[in-house]
Amino acid sequence: MFASRNLRLCTKDCMCLYVCPTGATDTETGQIDFAKCIACGECIKSCPSGAISMVPDTYPKQRPKDKGMCSTLNFISANMVRSEAVAKVVRDSASDDPVLEQIASALVRSNRLMAEDVCRESGYMLPQSGNVRKLLEDMLAADHPEDFPEDAVRKLLEKLRFNE
Ligand code: SF4
Ligand code: SF4
Repeated sequence: MFASRNLRLCTKDCMCLYVCPTGATDTETGQIDFAKCIACGECIKSCPSGAISMVPDTYPKQRPKDKGMCSTLNFISANMVRSEAVAKVVRDSASDDPVLEQIASALVRSNRLMAEDVCRESGYMLPQSGNVRKLLEDMLAADHPEDFPEDAVRKLLEKLRFNE
């Protein structure tokens, strides 16, 4: 385990800098220095913004796929895709009603996110799993737009600890 700081929540330069026994919280990048962190948890207790949490350094294996669970997931995902398609039609036909357009746009996005959440939280899309690795490798191999973050994907592949 080690501590990780959420930079969006951090209000900078306060308590954790003074309580950390190893100086791991005081870095130029704002990230906690994992090499120095001994996982004592003092920074979490002291942070007024709830910006620090513990993250594991090794991840569990992805669950073995269960037939019943897979068919339920497929059913839920298919429903999400249908809802997303309906919301898109509403959004595209509501250009004269900005409120309806906004609500339909939010529905499009939320259905997509919910479908992804369902797959991830059922333990079938863990970052350390073979299927996520394959997805990243396929993304690299495929034709992609100029602004595709190739370096970031390569770095992820290098850093993600494979544990299938
Ligand atoms: S867990 Fe302990 S060692 Fe690690 S950053 Fe927080 S205070 Fe420092
Ligand atoms: S205590 Fe929390 S808010 Fe303050 S510098 Fe540390 S992480 Fe940021």
